[in-house]
Amino acid sequence: MTNLLPDLDPPARLLLGPGPSNVHPRVTRALSAPVVGYLDPAWFTVMDETAALLRQVYGTENRVTFPISGTGTSGMEALLVNLIEPGDKVIVGLNGYFGDRIHQIALRAGADVIPVRALWGQPIDPERVRIALKEHPGVALVAVVHGETSTGVLQPLERLGRIVREHDALLLADCVTTLGGEAVTVDAWLVDAAYSCTQKALGCPPGLSPITVGPRAWAKIERRKTPPQSWYLDLRLLAEYWLGGRAYHHTPPAPMIYALREGLRIVLEEGLQQRSTRHRTNAAALRAGLATFGLPFVAAEDCWLPALTAVQIPDTVDDAAIRTTLRDRYNIEIGGGLGPLRGKAWRIGLMGYGSTAANVLLVLAALEAALAEAGYPIQPGAAVEAAARRLGAPA
Ligand SMILES: *Cc1c(COP(=O)(O)O)cnc(C)c1O
Repeated sequence: MTNLLPDLDPPARLLLGPGPSNVHPRVTRALSAPVVGYLDPAWFTVMDETAALLRQVYGTENRVTFPISGTGTSGMEALLVNLIEPGDKVIVGLNGYFGDRIHQIALRAGADVIPVRALWGQPIDPERVRIALKEHPGVALVAVVHGETSTGVLQPLERLGRIVREHDALLLADCVTTLGGEAVTVDAWLVDAAYSCTQKALGCPPGLSPITVGPRAWAKIERRKTPPQSWYLDLRLLAEYWLGGRAYHHTPPAPMIYALREGLRIVLEEGLQQRSTRHRTNAAALRAGLATFGLPFVAAEDCWLPALTAVQIPDTVDDAAIRTTLRDRYNIEIGGGLGPLRGKAWRIGLMGYGSTAANVLLVLAALEAALAEAGYPIQPGAAVEAAARRLGAPA
């Protein structure tokens, strides 16, 4: 008995980075509900309820709507390997780290990828997509990131949806950082397929990737000449379990699905519109506070993603030292930069349960203290005051 480890005791941090975000206490409670067998009728009820809640949160009537076992990237991979057949022409929006990940997976799935680029910090211009669709007749799929977490850019989908539909292609949207924070409406925006994750604006732990597939995208999957390379992520097999004859495919992670069901219930109790307003209000206050530090934002002003704000790090300040101070002294996690923004930007997330007025003031106060200690010139109290004023102003 001498080698027994102490009790597991990870610190309860304030998670204000790009995800995971803090888990809602009701979701934590749901995780402890008893595990039941995957063919138990009581379990089928939970599955059906979770899929129905998911359709509401996605703003869709798509029958094929359920969570994939795995993090956000598993949904990305599932949709890409099922929707792409080798040789398919696929347009990928490249304006950040996650667009690049879509690109890599699409290439591995055998796509003939046509990149449409924008600067990191800008959305993809739908007119550039229209031109690419005209220049490359027969494009099967257009894939873009709705909320680009590497830059804090929100990609408008409505006009893009109409353009893609006019050219008879399919639109795939990465809603990993937007679902549960934005009022996503897959059907109204003509999005043919989308995926998300549980650990960002839905306020659940990491481990599931909720997906939705519309009828046009499903028809393409059913027309496939060869099954997708991945057996685990084969959507036709998964749909057999979730929506069809309940044929065993793999053991569903029941506690995570309980957690997702509770997270979705909380989203709908608050209301999609109210939730979106809360994310916007708190993000606007954060930005008002950050602006007093004189740090430029990465995302252009007209395409801010409320769930995530990226700001440039001053040249005179050490990225890692500030984030270490925030973590070790103030127990707050914020994110560093990815790809070309590594060491050059901080990413502050206000997602789901973590998007609160109190958290805005706390992270600004902690950042001010850390910056001042690092010798960066600060107007004491200005950031918190600007944010508080913004929070008190009429919406
Ligand atoms: C976090 C994230 C992913 C990947 O999700 P994981 O859960 O880390 O696999 C994909 N796309 C975007 C936009 C993300 O923010």
